Amino acid sequence: MKFARFIMKNAALANVPKHIDHFSKFSPSPLSMKQFLDFGSVNACEKTSFRFLRQELPVRLANIMKEIRLLPPRLLSTPSAQLVHSWYVQSLMEILEFLDRRPEDQKVLQDFVETLVTIRNRHNDVVPTMAQGVIEYKEMFGHDPVTSQNIQYFLDRFYMSRISIRMLINQHTLIFDPASQPVPSTIGCIDPNCRVTEVIQDAYECARMLCEQYYLCSPELELKELNVNTESEPIHISYVPSHLYHVLFELFKNAMRATIESHESSSTLPPIGVMVALGGEDLSIKMSDRGGGVPARKIEQLFSYMYSTAPRPEITTNRRTPLAGFGYGLPLSRLYVRYFQGDLQLYPLEGFGTDAVIHLKALSTDSVEKLPVFNQTALRHYTSSHEADDWCAPRKEPLDLARDRVAK
Ligand code: ATP
Ligand code: MG
Repeated sequence: MKFARFIMKNAALANVPKHIDHFSKFSPSPLSMKQFLDFGSVNACEKTSFRFLRQELPVRLANIMKEIRLLPPRLLSTPSAQLVHSWYVQSLMEILEFLDRRPEDQKVLQDFVETLVTIRNRHNDVVPTMAQGVIEYKEMFGHDPVTSQNIQYFLDRFYMSRISIRMLINQHTLIFDPASQPVPSTIGCIDPNCRVTEVIQDAYECARMLCEQYYLCSPELELKELNVNTESEPIHISYVPSHLYHVLFELFKNAMRATIESHESSSTLPPIGVMVALGGEDLSIKMSDRGGGVPARKIEQLFSYMYSTAPRPEITTNRRTPLAGFGYGLPLSRLYVRYFQGDLQLYPLEGFGTDAVIHLKALSTDSVEKLPVFNQTALRHYTSSHEADDWCAPRKEPLDLARDRVAK
C-alpha cells in the first residue's frame, strides 16, 4: 500500500514540469479592488470563486515557478531555495487535484477551503527562507553586480506574486470558510471604508513601543489630513488595512531609528510629521523625519534586498522583535503599495531628514492588481548578458588629453 502511494506520488511529480509549462502559457488575470469588493458583497458565490481559483492559482504559481527555475543554478541548489521550490511544487499539485472535481458537491468546496488554508500555512515562511537562500549563495560565491541585479529583479517579482496569491487565498477563505471569524464591515481582508488616519495612529503606536524598548525614548507624531473633496469628513478609501499598516509600520520604524541616532547628543527629539491628502485620483501620505537623511546616490540601494546599516539581528525564537537589520523593510513595503498600482518614494535631504511619500489610488476601479507575467521580456532579464553602460564613467585620474583618445 505504502509502495503504491510512493509510485503514484512519483508519477505525479514527474508530470510537474508539464503542468508548469501548460499553466505558464496563460497570463494571470489581475483583479481590481472593485471586483474584489463586488464579488464579496453582492453575489458572493462560492462555486464561482472555486472555478476561478482552481484555474488562476495554478497560472500564478506556474508563471513564477518558471522564473524560479531560471535562477543561477548555484542559488537554486541551496537548501533554502530547494525547500521553497518544493513548497511551490506541493501546492501546485494539491490545487490541480481539484481540476476535475465538481463544485456542486459541498464536500469538494469544503476540501478546497481546507487545502487553501494548508497552502497558506505552508508558505508562511517563504520570505525569510528565500532570503536565507540568497545569504547562503552570497556567502559561498560572493556577488557580482549582474547577478545582484538579477536577484533583485527576481525577488521583486517573486514576492509580488506571493502577495497576490495570498490575497486570493485570504479572500476565498475569509468569505467562505465557516471557521473564519470575519470582521464586520470588511469584505474578506478589504475595508471598503478604511480610515487612513486610524491605520497611521495604530502603526505609529506599535513602532513607538518597539522604539521605546530599544532606545528608551521615541519621537512624537504630528498628523495632519486634508480632504479636498469634503473638508469635514475623515479620509477613507477602499483598501487592505493590513497592507497599509505593514508599510506605515516599516516607515515609522525607519524614521524613528534615524531620528534618534542622529540626535544622540541632543536633549529633545524632533517629531515625525505625517500629512495625508485625498484628491480626485490619488491618496498621498507623506512621512517626514529629521533624521539626517542619506546621500541621493544611495536611494536605489536602500530599496535593495538585504541592504541595511543596522547590525543583522539573530533569528532565534526567544529574542524580541528587532527594530531594523534585515534590509527588507523598504523593498517589501514598496511592493505592497505597488500591488494595487500605488508607489513609494524616498526623498532624502542629506544632513537634514527624509520624506517618504506613499501614493495610493483613491478609486477602487483604479486599484488593479499588478502581477508579474513570465514572457520573452522576463526571460531576457535572466538569460541575456549585461551590456556595457552607454554613459561614460567619471574619470578618476587628472585630465590628460594625450590619453584621452583611447579606443573603446
Ligand atoms: P528592516 O528590514 O528590519 O526594516 P532596515 O531598516 O535596515 O531593516 P530598510 O527598512 O529596508 O531596512 O532600510 C534600509 C536602510 O535604509 C536602513 O538600514 C537605513 O540605513 C536606511 N534608511 C531607511 N529609512 C531611512 C530614513 N528615514 N532616514 C535615514 N536612513 C534611512
Ligand atoms: Mg526598516
